[in-house]
Amino acid sequence: MIMTLGQKNFDMAIVGCGPAGLSAAVNAHIRKKSFILLGTSFCSPKMHTSPWIDNYLGEHHILGKDLRDKFLRHIKDIGIEITPKRVDMIYPVEKGYLVQCGDENYHARVVIIASGVDFTRTLKGEEEFLGKGVSYCATCDGPLFQNKTVAMLVYSKDGLDEVKFLAEICQEVILFPLFKGDLFQMPENIIINRVKPIEIGGNDFANRVITDKGTVFVDGVFLFREVVSPGRLVPGMETVNGVIKVNKHMETNLPGLFAAGDCTGKPYQLAKAVGEGQVAALNAVHYLDSQN
Ligand SMILES: Cc1cc2nc3c(=O)[nH]c(=O)nc-3n(C[C@H](O)[C@H](O)[C@H](O)COP(=O)(O)OP(=O)(O)OC[C@H]3O[C@@H](n4cnc5c(N)ncnc54)[C@H](O)[C@@H]3O)c2cc1C
Repeated sequence: MIMTLGQKNFDMAIVGCGPAGLSAAVNAHIRKKSFILLGTSFCSPKMHTSPWIDNYLGEHHILGKDLRDKFLRHIKDIGIEITPKRVDMIYPVEKGYLVQCGDENYHARVVIIASGVDFTRTLKGEEEFLGKGVSYCATCDGPLFQNKTVAMLVYSKDGLDEVKFLAEICQEVILFPLFKGDLFQMPENIIINRVKPIEIGGNDFANRVITDKGTVFVDGVFLFREVVSPGRLVPGMETVNGVIKVNKHMETNLPGLFAAGDCTGKPYQLAKAVGEGQVAALNAVHYLDSQN
């Protein structure tokens, strides 16, 4: 069974709609498990930008975006829908996991992470002040900054909704747009600052963004990146050098939590992502069946 409107409980949640996540979804569908496929609004920007692909079996010399469209047509043809949401956090709970997407939560008995890798470097001070004035989730932590001034560093247009949400509760939001594209009309208390952030500074708590044009003082700093680094997605999940540690069944160190594709490490290649998506899904199905 595929996701139905309003449903919040699933056998499986798949995080990411690149080749690894789509492959996992096709296999979960064939094995008749209920699942939700969550992905940020544009599936696999990496595939979209790939020039000619010559090493994907059966598709000699194809543009990345054409292969991506074929993958998306495949899942559409069999009735799989993508829920266009970014996953902020995944918490182990009784009988599975709680998958948090802004103010929406889903419960799944197993989860497959297929979120790719982000090569954007973190800012100096970002890790140091995480949880101490630095946050990746406006919905979760925004209320802590009610009537205060916050900075929001936005690396993808999808983050603008979070900026507007912060503007509703904060006195002022200093927006650093770090993506290509125009900004539409913003509420008056959003101040747009087109400079390059270099560092997040503070004492015990983050209180400034240091840029190439000077320092901006704030009460807190929010960052919106399209990809949440794997290490921050699930408390207690083991990573090695920034990628998720898995065994050959694509199991992580946490029961019922699997990972596939670039997020498990090199080689960063399509065939590996698709293959791992399948292995993860089939082993997740086996895990589900063994729990019944
Ligand atoms: C320029 C370029 C050329 C390439 N050429 C080739 C080639 O010729 N041959 C080859 O085999 N490979 C090539 N690759 C590599 C290939 O594109 C990747 O290995 C492949 O896309 C990895 O698939 P994935 O599903 O693991 O991750 P991705 O394709 O990165 O997909 C992950 C998806 O998850 C989404 N996501 C991330 N975090 C979250 C979250 N928290 N919540 C919801 N969604 C999330 C992302 O937005 C993305 O849509 C190339 C890559 C690039 C950049």
